[in-house]
This record gives sequence, C-alpha cells and structure tokens, in this order.
Amino acid sequence: MYINGERVSAASGDTFEVTNPATGEVIGRVPDGAASDATAAIDAAADAATAWAGTPPFARADLLHTAWQLMLDRADDLAGLMTTEQGKPLRASKAEVIYGADFLRWFAEEARRIEGAWLTSGRADQRFLQTHAPVGVVAAITPWNYPISMLTRKMGPALAAGCTMVLKPAEATPLCAQAVIDVFEDAGFPPGVVNLVTTGDPKPVGDVFTGDPRVRKLTFTGSTAVGRVLAGKAASNLQRVSVELGGHAPFIVFPDADPVHAAKGAAALKFLNSGQACISPNRLYVHDSAQQAFIDTIVPRVEKISVGVGTTDGVKVGPLINEAAVAKVEAQVEDARAKGAAVPVGGRRVTDGDLAAGHFYAPTILNNVTDDMAIYREETFGPVAPVITYDDVDTVIEAANDTNYGLAAYVYTSDLKTAMRAVEGLKFGIIGVNDVNPTSATVPFGGMNDSGLGREGGHEGLAEYLETKVAGFAL
Ligand code: ADP
Repeated sequence: MYINGERVSAASGDTFEVTNPATGEVIGRVPDGAASDATAAIDAAADAATAWAGTPPFARADLLHTAWQLMLDRADDLAGLMTTEQGKPLRASKAEVIYGADFLRWFAEEARRIEGAWLTSGRADQRFLQTHAPVGVVAAITPWNYPISMLTRKMGPALAAGCTMVLKPAEATPLCAQAVIDVFEDAGFPPGVVNLVTTGDPKPVGDVFTGDPRVRKLTFTGSTAVGRVLAGKAASNLQRVSVELGGHAPFIVFPDADPVHAAKGAAALKFLNSGQACISPNRLYVHDSAQQAFIDTIVPRVEKISVGVGTTDGVKVGPLINEAAVAKVEAQVEDARAKGAAVPVGGRRVTDGDLAAGHFYAPTILNNVTDDMAIYREETFGPVAPVITYDDVDTVIEAANDTNYGLAAYVYTSDLKTAMRAVEGLKFGIIGVNDVNPTSATVPFGGMNDSGLGREGGHEGLAEYLETKVAGFAL
C-alpha cells in the first residue's frame, strides 16, 4: 500500500493473491488492508490537505502534466501489466493507458482555469467575490474493468482541484493501482497527497471511508447495488457523492440507417473488454426492414473474432474477470435460448486447450430476443449481443427508455431529424449517433437514474471536487 509517501504492509501483515484471469496463474500478492489501514491513509490525506490546497494551481498542473508524460512513457509496461492482471488484449490495454493518461493532461489544463467571479449587489456599499476551494479529502473506490483509467478519471480532477486522496482499487486489479501510484510518486507528488489501500475485503474499508467525517467526498465506480449502499452511508455523513454505476445501453438501428455500417459498429463495440463495460450495448433494437442485412453482416464478423490470452497476437477478446462472471453470462444465454432466442454464433464457454484454465466465453449473438428474457432487463457484462427486432419507429425510444438505467445509448440513422429526436427523447447521459465511442476526457461522462450521480471528465468533472465560496465586502 502507499500511505504518506511510504510503501507499507497491512497493519495485520496479511496479504492476498492476484491472479491472471486468462491462465489462473498467481501473478502477485498485495497487502490485505483493513479498517485501521484505511484510517491511517485518511490521517495522511488529512495532514497533507492544507498544504496541497495551498499549492498554486500552476504547480499542481505541472505535476499532473509530469504524471501524464510518465504514464505515456510507461504505456507499454502498464499495458502489459493490465493484460496480465485484467485480461483485455494488449492493444486494448494500451488504448486504456492512453485514455487514462489523457485525464491527467485535461485536468492539468483545467487546474489553471479554476476561476471566480466579481458579483453585483443590491447595496451600493457592497461587493461580492465568488471563489472556489477544494472539497477536502476524497475517498475513491474503483472497479477492475478499466483498472487504470477509472483511477485517473478521479485523480486528475481531484488533484487539480487541490484535494488529497485515498484510493481503494478492486480486489482483482490492485497491481495496476500500484503502478499508477508509482507514476504519481515519480512525478513528485508530495507525501500524503495520494494514498493507496488495497484489500481483499472491501466492506470494512468502505465503512471507514463513508464514516470518517474528515472524508468530504466519496467517488465510486462499480455496481449499482454497491454504489447505492455506499451513497446512502456517505449521505448520512453529508459527504459529497459521485457514483458511476451500471448501464443497460440500447443500440437502435433505424430503418433509414445503413444496416451494414450499423452491424460493423455493433461488432466493434460490443466485444470490447469482452463486453465488461458499463456503456456496452446490451439491447440491439434493429428495425425489421434492416434485420436480415444486420444479421448477415454481424454473424460472420463475430465468428472470426479470435478469443484467447490477451498477450497473443491477433487476439481480440480476452477472458472474463472470474468464474462468477462467466456463470452469469451463461445463465442469461441459457434463459434466452429456453425462451426462444436463436444463437447463430457463440453461446458457449471456450475451453479449448490451455484456455480451459481461464474464464472464457465465446462472442455471442442472440437473435429474436424478447422482453420476457432476463437479458432484456439485466446488465450482462459479457460478450453477448442480444438482437431485438422492432417494427414501430414511434415506440422504439420508449422501449429503449424502459429501464432503470440511464448511462449510454447508441443510434444509427442517416436522417438528421430522427437523430435529433432520438437524442432529445433518450433518457441517457451519453449518446452515440452513428458513433461507437462517444467518450473523451473533454466531455462529461455519467448517467441518470440507477446509473448514478455526478459526472466525470469535461468541465463538470472538475466542479465535482470544488466548493463554492462567496465573500460579501462592505465598503
Ligand atoms: P463489480 O460488480 O464491478 O465487481 P462492485 O460494485 O462489486 O462491482 O465493485 C466495485 C468496487 O466496489 C470494487 O473496488 C469493490 O472492491 C468495491 N466494493 C464492493 N463491495 C463494497 C462494499 N461493501 N464497500 C465498499 N466497497 C465495496
């Protein structure tokens, strides 16, 4: 772990194993932190808070720029580590490192623009000054699916704003978090500004984060179930809360879209990170006039996707994170099959040769999916694309909105009016229009309803870490 600029063991001395999800091999051991370790990390962050908040924003920006550059310099090594620990293919890991680093650059730039205002008053003898201050100590809990960029998406804005931090990465990916800490240490961040607690048992650490009054903000990315509980605990302490949670993204192919282009987009998007992304399309609504061309295009493309260990050349889809993830996908596919879905490709575990030791599931298309199937309602987090055929253009937006989630949505159309109506009608925070990657450090990322609270990235990402102060001056 990393507390107050020192590498430390857990107070108990306990450790836990980290395994490669593609091979089952143990690739490392990390400290198994507990409540007292979390408190020690908060002590360090609280002690460092005043000096860091008082460090000029230009100096904070310079450190973030250095961290950005170091992360790019180390991109190949970080990508290799990520593939070994998390499973995604090397090219995808490298893309994530670059995406993750970009949050450091963006927020380094934003740090220089933490501005205030000079406001008018109804009183002739009064002036108002509005300024911003960092919210204080931030506790961050992050998931395993994007083990580097989910950290930097929180670290960039928090550190730019002048907050100090305590990080707790997911049990499956603590090594990536340690490597990110190395970057920040080597960049020259002062002791206590960023702290890392690793643990195999997140609940006691989460309880300390949400229960310690010195923590002024909780930022969480993970499942809706856990986020809801943590947000509730944090709220009772009046901590600020950002929670980026699950999704159930619709992908709508309108009759005026090019079905071949849409199918290519779906094939490229759905299987990224083996479908383990909160913005992965989970319900593909294809108009019945486009359905045949869509299926005829996507099925052969998916058949050709190479599944395997992410370090092997040409592999496009790696393992799922663990056995429970494979079992969930399998159960959804079997439920859909039993209720009448066709499975033109995939629909099985991959256990050929050495892959039997990992957690692999074949890229899968389900056709003729209907609303009585579990996959129609539940987030999958796996490499399965369920195709739903629809015929009524007027009600497809309503069908897409019929979920408690509201994170990402995708539409394919060649008609501007249809696109605009879809953007206005869809109750989702992120919408791709003929676009499979509507995300960037420059724009806010986040969702509505059960997909969470708050936004990361863009200008709003920084505002999440700033308090507003007003001073009235009597003349
Ligand atoms: P996923 O289904 O993606 O694993 P989780 O919500 O379980 O999502 O995990 C996301 C993050 O939340 C991880 O860092 C995990 O350790 C953490 N987490 C899980 N349960 C708790 C809890 N009760 N208290 C605090 N953190 C938790």
